[in-house]
Amino acid sequence: MMDRKPLLINGVWQSAAAGSENINPSNTNDVIAVYDRAGVHDTRSAITAATEAAPGWTAASPQLRHDILDRVGNELLARKEELGALLAQEEGKTRPEGVAETARAGHIFKFFAGEALRISGEKLASVRPGIEVDITREPVGVVGIITPWNFPIAIPAWKIAPALCFGNTVVFKPAELVPGCAWELTDILQRAGVPAGVFNNVYGPGSEVGQAMLDDPRINAITFTGSQATGARVAAACAKHMRRLQLEMGGKNPFVVLDDCDLDVAVDAAVNGAFFSTGQRCTASSRLIVTEGIHNRFVEAVLERMRGLNVDNALAEGTDIGPVVDEAQLQQDMRYIEIARREGGNIRQGGEHVSRATPGFYFTPALVTDTTPQMTINREEIFGPVASVIRVRDYDEALSVANDTEFGLSAGICTTSLKYASHFRANARAGMVMVNLPTAGVDYHVPFGGTKGSSLGSREQGRYAVEFFTVVKTAYVRP
Ligand code: NAD
Repeated sequence: MMDRKPLLINGVWQSAAAGSENINPSNTNDVIAVYDRAGVHDTRSAITAATEAAPGWTAASPQLRHDILDRVGNELLARKEELGALLAQEEGKTRPEGVAETARAGHIFKFFAGEALRISGEKLASVRPGIEVDITREPVGVVGIITPWNFPIAIPAWKIAPALCFGNTVVFKPAELVPGCAWELTDILQRAGVPAGVFNNVYGPGSEVGQAMLDDPRINAITFTGSQATGARVAAACAKHMRRLQLEMGGKNPFVVLDDCDLDVAVDAAVNGAFFSTGQRCTASSRLIVTEGIHNRFVEAVLERMRGLNVDNALAEGTDIGPVVDEAQLQQDMRYIEIARREGGNIRQGGEHVSRATPGFYFTPALVTDTTPQMTINREEIFGPVASVIRVRDYDEALSVANDTEFGLSAGICTTSLKYASHFRANARAGMVMVNLPTAGVDYHVPFGGTKGSSLGSREQGRYAVEFFTVVKTAYVRP
């Protein structure tokens, strides 16, 4: 019998009635650990603890907040190899990708440690004589954090660190499939000295724990990353309670390749953007929009590069692409391949479930050519290593196809023309634009987020995070 990893509620490790096995997608015989699973009662206890801890944490010295966040960042960086391997084991991205993600989480904590010392206000001259106007920022209160499985440590980090930095208390619900990194991060926060009740981890099912968070009016703000379908539920619940909300959701990110591009740069960026991290990135380059002068050369070069990609165990040396995260995701990827075939797409390579030395959800990266913008695979997020190619006449058509989507997270272009690069930057309807770079892959200290159906609310990360995690107060004083 394996020991269970408990929940953290009100500064105390607590066991629950039920537990969930954390299964390694590279080897389904490997049960990484068993994690206690919160229910509605545990969730309410965590919300009570966060509510009661809020006044003390709000009043705590910025120095204390700085020191705790800095310690967390230091430990994440010191243990990036070990935690990165755990991340790869539970989520399926490769070990180097897991290590890089853990390092990113460490840097995020250290960034917000500094921000705790830089919380500032503003003083404006009143239009009325003898009156002073002060603008200050205050914490929102209790923040509910709901995260997806595909970045098991970076996304929790970029929500938890600013929440704590700006004096909020936290009820954190990690995704069902990746309790391991969330538990380790919780343990690090606890040992770093976060006071009781300020940070609570209620790992458990979205329909139960997540829903209990949405239904509880004591949560003052919810920051959510996940699918559009769940995001819509979160938004409806927040509207009911008039609660502050931040949503980061899916993408169908275009990567435009123009005739004048450097072909090597285009192939590198497309293959990285579409297939690395097993294509399970909200910023993945899923639509490759290619002008006709370079179309055939580009497709052949991408296929050639794909043949060299090694799909295998996430922890094995030399693996380029790990397994997809679970059986349901594997079935979803294969279903979209079937739909693409039925609608007239040409599956040039990949799109198959393959066996390796250990039983796992191995799926070969797929390139689908001869697709049109209206096909299902160009409209819906697949969330796997599947890229489609859309052939276009020229830049104008490429831009129009790029923007023809309900999503608006990231958009990329590969060109040597300053004119087209500048025009694309200004006219791509996306929160992030990449020139001669993959659509995925962002820095930890600058704003992250999208437009249209991809995001709602203010930006995450960097100095822009202050907008969501604080409330502005304007004070008028007649001395
Ligand atoms: P998901 O929507 O299924 O789950 C996200 C979280 O919501 C999980 O913790 C889940 O338990 C919880 N949840 C589910 N039902 C709930 C409910 N009724 N009430 C409250 N919470 C509930 O998404 P996922 O499959 O974990 O993640 C994949 C999705 O996340 C993709 O669409 C991807 O594009 C998106 N994503 C977006 C970004 C971004 O920043 N834009 C980043 C990473 C992932």
